[in-house]
Amino acid sequence: MTNPPVCDYEGSDYQTSFWDKGGREYEDRTEAIALKRLLPKSGRILLELGAGAGRNTPRYVGFERVVLLDYSRTQLEQAQQRLGNSDKYIYVAADAYRLPFVDGLFDAATMIRVLHHMADAPKALRQVKNVLEANGIFILEFANKQNLKSILRYLLGKQKWSPFTLEPVEFVELNFDFHPKAVRNWLEELGFTIEKALALSHFRVGFLKRIIPTSILVFLDSLFQWTGAFWQFTPSVFMKARVAQNGILYHGQDNILSYFKCPDCGHSPLAEKNNFLECTNCKKKWGIKDGIYDFREALKG
Ligand SMILES: [Zn+2]
Repeated sequence: MTNPPVCDYEGSDYQTSFWDKGGREYEDRTEAIALKRLLPKSGRILLELGAGAGRNTPRYVGFERVVLLDYSRTQLEQAQQRLGNSDKYIYVAADAYRLPFVDGLFDAATMIRVLHHMADAPKALRQVKNVLEANGIFILEFANKQNLKSILRYLLGKQKWSPFTLEPVEFVELNFDFHPKAVRNWLEELGFTIEKALALSHFRVGFLKRIIPTSILVFLDSLFQWTGAFWQFTPSVFMKARVAQNGILYHGQDNILSYFKCPDCGHSPLAEKNNFLECTNCKKKWGIKDGIYDFREALKG
């Protein structure tokens, strides 16, 4: 058991049940628009935190390399099938609270529909900040507790928790909604500057999705996303944040081995063996199997 606990999608058919057959085309397409608006056109190496089955990964085309990180190995296997085994994609099974990367490695990171499962959000955000280089870009999506529906329910007395207070609300085990101001505060305390905010999913309402063609809803949402700069009352919010310029600048090589550190003791570089990477400091062994680096638990023996 990890600490804080991790929401594990191991063995889940999340990609199929939620995205492919779950009537989520509207959400998927509005996210694509937001990413296009926020992502740098090109870059060196991007970390996709909670990559799942790689739904968003093809949208990072401008980057030379993408590291797909997920806690679930089976999700990464699905991503491999979708994206193939090329040098461009690196697959890593790891805990977002214990990232196995050297400081300042990435020039960009994304975390979409992932903070939603974080019992200790500031701890995870600090990890992201550490692995980004100076001036690096972080695109964060979170579920917004201060959305129109929760406000109405609260005012009508149908919901106990207040959508206006800063603490997260856990409405189902390991499912959290956050107040935009709280997320903003956490990012700023870590030294990020928030450059943009977009409000998404204005029309995430079942009957609208049934009676109005998706492309029209997507178009309308894309017009309204910009209002996120002024207020955020939609269920989903995207923020684009930049790391302060006085941070670390990464001067590593292009060698994948140089990316990693031991998630237990922080030592780098790791020694490459046949089917694992070994930490020469604490002697832990981290498995590599079928193209997936596994830093969740050290190999036994
Ligand atoms: Zn170690």
